[in-house]
Amino acid sequence: MTYSPDTAPPALAPQLLQPLQAVEVLASATSVTILCHVHPDADTIGSGLALGIAFERKGIPVQVSFAAPVELPASMRELPGTHLMVAPDAVADEVDLLVTVDCGSAGRLGSLRSRLDGARRTLVVDHHRSNTRFAMLNLIDESAESTTAILARLFDLWGVTIDADIAHCLYAGLVTDTGSFRWVQPDSHLLAKRLLDTGIDGAGIARRLLDTHPFGWLPMLSSVLGSATLVTDAAHGAGLVYALIRCADSAGLRSEEVESVIDIVRTTSEAEVAAVFKESAPESWSVSLRSKESVDVSAVAERLGGGGHRFAAGYTASGSGESVVAALREALD
Ligand code: MN
Repeated sequence: MTYSPDTAPPALAPQLLQPLQAVEVLASATSVTILCHVHPDADTIGSGLALGIAFERKGIPVQVSFAAPVELPASMRELPGTHLMVAPDAVADEVDLLVTVDCGSAGRLGSLRSRLDGARRTLVVDHHRSNTRFAMLNLIDESAESTTAILARLFDLWGVTIDADIAHCLYAGLVTDTGSFRWVQPDSHLLAKRLLDTGIDGAGIARRLLDTHPFGWLPMLSSVLGSATLVTDAAHGAGLVYALIRCADSAGLRSEEVESVIDIVRTTSEAEVAAVFKESAPESWSVSLRSKESVDVSAVAERLGGGGHRFAAGYTASGSGESVVAALREALD
């Protein structure tokens, strides 16, 4: 399909775009809303802000937002472009182009999902294996290691200069979604070099996003990891390790502290699959899944109403701790 700005968009089946076609859509926008996913990570925010900066430079009115929680995670507040962010209530009801970044499904937009209806055109830019193609126009590259890596390619095609501000945002998504470059293709190192060559402080960005926690993180880890459970016969004998973070464990701590736990639990050598059950409200859980080689946790998460990548996925669940653990074990068998 080729897009012409003079032609009304087809209101039919979702279209899958190639990068050049996506650039034509971006370049023809007259007003833009960029939406990041709820409980944002550095890839969705870095993508949203980098794209927002690009539109701002082109003189195109742009708003960036996410539905929940109320505040941007503290570790992301130093990213360039946060002046483009608006509260969910302030997101325009009608816009020429709405772009979602790093969102695998419309549900990941939370309450801002309603804004899809008021947009003349909607565009999904994402790298999740489980992406549901929920926009009119969809650019999905599941081989990309971060959504910011997709954007770097779009910027090159679009003629957007990747300067230090945009590089900072792109690097934030790249360093976090690759687990600090632990699982990367060679091209991601080339992209990292290019971003670092703009003069950004890569070490500082990574430290703020990944290696900075208040002292209260340590007793939380002690409590949560102390009750971690290993089930060696789960997942057809591949093994499951899991931990529960109850509301009381994480009281007073940030999302950064809660999200860090999976990266410790997943290192357990006796288990192929790792899970962390995070209680956001009593008996309301968001669940992080990780695997190493043989289990596709994206498929497991989809069975439980969520989604993600082959080796990293998630979903939400409600019920007692025992019942949500039991449901996962069943989905793994
Ligand atoms: Mn991502």
